[in-house]
Amino acid sequence: MKVNVAQLRRTEGGSEEYQFSENFPPLQLGNEEYIYQKPLKVVINVINTGKSLLARGWVQSLLGVNCSRCLKEISFPLDFEFEDEWLPLELISQDDEESVFIFEKDEFSIDERILEHILLNLPMRFMCSEECKGLCPHCGADLNTNPCVCSNEIIDPRLEILSKWNKGV
Ligand SMILES: [Zn+2]
Ligand SMILES: [Zn+2]
Repeated sequence: MKVNVAQLRRTEGGSEEYQFSENFPPLQLGNEEYIYQKPLKVVINVINTGKSLLARGWVQSLLGVNCSRCLKEISFPLDFEFEDEWLPLELISQDDEESVFIFEKDEFSIDERILEHILLNLPMRFMCSEECKGLCPHCGADLNTNPCVCSNEIIDPRLEILSKWNKGV
């Protein structure tokens, strides 16, 4: 995704809206790979403040993930806003904050920024629901749909240790 600001750069106080809808390659996160189930929709409004170009954006898509407790496949909705400040390479100086992004040849290349914002907006773990009961650690049954008998046994961890001891494990 390229945001062409050739016109806007020369219009102080002006603003322009850009819209994109693109298929992004799968999101790599550690050993996991998540597929976008919808094209990534990005709307960006760029304002020429006279000092810099301020980009306010909105990202929407659906990410195919797995519940971290029961492993069921779920769709995680991406829907968030972001703000980035851009400066042309030739105007960048030592005093500029590190949070400013640099562009060249009247164009922002925003894919990397979008990806970073996506990562910032992901939860620590995905869950199919707050109440997800997860899988039984003993038999692997999905406790949401398939309560197993194990959960009735081994309630007290001290008893568990004792029973292992008795069995000579
Ligand atoms: Zn779950
Ligand atoms: Zn079980």
